[in-house]
Amino acid sequence: MNVAQIMKERMSFSFEVFPPKQDKPVEPLLDTLDHLYKFKPDFVSCTYGAGGTNAGRNVEICKAIKDSGKTIPVTHFTCIGNSKEKIKRELQNYLDIGVDHILALRGDYPKGWEGTRGDFNYANELVEFIKVHFPQFTIAIAGDPEKHVECHSFDEDISHLRVKQDCGGDYIMTQLCHDVDQFQWWRDRLIESGITLPIDVGVMPVLAKDPTIRMAVSNGSGIPRDLAEVIGRYGENPEDFKKAGIEYTVKQIYKYMNAGIDGLHIYSLNKWEDVAKIVNKSGIRKMHN
Ligand code: FAD
Repeated sequence: MNVAQIMKERMSFSFEVFPPKQDKPVEPLLDTLDHLYKFKPDFVSCTYGAGGTNAGRNVEICKAIKDSGKTIPVTHFTCIGNSKEKIKRELQNYLDIGVDHILALRGDYPKGWEGTRGDFNYANELVEFIKVHFPQFTIAIAGDPEKHVECHSFDEDISHLRVKQDCGGDYIMTQLCHDVDQFQWWRDRLIESGITLPIDVGVMPVLAKDPTIRMAVSNGSGIPRDLAEVIGRYGENPEDFKKAGIEYTVKQIYKYMNAGIDGLHIYSLNKWEDVAKIVNKSGIRKMHN
């Protein structure tokens, strides 16, 4: 069964990891993955550096996930800086190593770039290209419950998401959104606009003050009152912050599950110990040895 089919049958559960930099060893991430597999995730996704930076490491990690036989690898893939020919070569390479799930993205522009400097300007063009040339892939598309930072209105952003669905997206993976009410409002707007794909909700664990604020700001994501309280009360004490952040993340997962979501995707930040605490406390999955 592919991931979209799983999500139509029951709530999927998954993790995201990112590849280490070229000059860093891969073993710590492989160890993290071994721990994450114990939760029997339906899939593990691996990020891809827009502009192709570190693409080799992404392939190495996707292959390691595939070769583990433990779960489905989903590669992220961006069209920034990529020509059609290069995209064809890279996609064929994924298929050759047994990776047939992809999150098709435009990508964030590297510093100093204007435009994609590639053959595609937006993710919908990449989705269409994959659907035509590589129909073997199950394709995820990105959605922003708080609207993509560059877009002027929700209506426009949602109509762009609809185009990605119509071009062949199989399911939606969301940007981090701490505000579950906002997510539910957005999901209703998607339904009104004819978007019927299952939605996999991305949850960013709250573990340290500065990254929590930085990621919210860079993704245009709001900080609701209960998270602001954690930041205000524990922001100067990293240990207490992490404890309160883990509690906060667990509560957020409960709220999402009560909202009846199709999938829950935890951005692991490559930290299995903290993530295991969150998964165990929220009772989503039991750890298997
Ligand atoms: P698009 O769908 O192309 O949208 C980009 C912007 O253009 C939006 O504002 C949209 O409204 C607008 N738009 C879309 N189509 C049109 C059109 N036809 N005309 C005019 N405007 C249009 N980035 C990475 O570099 N590597 C990763 O591994 C990565 N992983 C991610 C994982 C998830 C789950 C998510 C949600 C995001 C991830 N990103 C990653 C970030 C993502 O690349 C950025 O959010 C990027 O800025 C937009 O990508 P997109 O695929 O949503 O682009």
